[in-house]
Amino acid sequence: MKKLIMDKDQLIQGWIKRKIITDKKIISAFQELNRENFILEEYKDQAYADYPLPILAGQTISQPTTIAIMTSLLEPKEKNKILEIGTGSGYQAAILGKIVGSGGKIISIEIIEELAEFAKANLKKENITNVEIIHGDGSVGYEKQSPYDRIIITAATPKITDELIGQLKDYGLLVAPVGYDIHSLVMTKIIKQKNTITKHEFGSFSFVPLRGIKGFE
Ligand code: SAM
Repeated sequence: MKKLIMDKDQLIQGWIKRKIITDKKIISAFQELNRENFILEEYKDQAYADYPLPILAGQTISQPTTIAIMTSLLEPKEKNKILEIGTGSGYQAAILGKIVGSGGKIISIEIIEELAEFAKANLKKENITNVEIIHGDGSVGYEKQSPYDRIIITAATPKITDELIGQLKDYGLLVAPVGYDIHSLVMTKIIKQKNTITKHEFGSFSFVPLRGIKGFE
């Protein structure tokens, strides 16, 4: 199969053209951040290739277009407090950190300690200081710093639990790939408004599974 290797600008222009991202703050975050800083040395030449790449511990940094779609669906705003479940390389957290700015905060939780440390080192290279990485099981969210304006799960989630929705603020949004078949997950957006939960679905995606007590184990 032919590899689709692009540069940063080609990737972002493609998203703008296809209206995958329209928000100026989101566009700027992708432009400012160097994805090379979140990629293992041996894959750096493929930093802007539009497919997932291996990171440590058998995990992956998601395909750039998937990250763009999820970021857009999440509608992150300046000063938001956002929980990310599945830190991986720290790239998605860094994108969100750029968008929420110094008045906001990203709490990102990772179950594999080696990856939590990898992400911390990657964020340092980009001088990002508003992202806190927690080593732990995010399948139950992270109650301690709740409620959140936004929650994003970047691993295949069997279901969105009431416990997670309970950690969202009123008018909060949650985005996650949901389903029991990790190769055919439904990208799902939950909107919480007072006592009403609205669910929207956006196409089929593949992800590594969410582990932990409310995950696939
Ligand atoms: N967002 C990441 C990035 O920007 O590189 C990519 C995430 S990767 C597709 C999924 C990550 O979720 C893996 O690093 C995996 O170890 C982590 N993970 C799986 N189950 C988890 C859990 N219960 N709590 C926290 N992290 C988990």
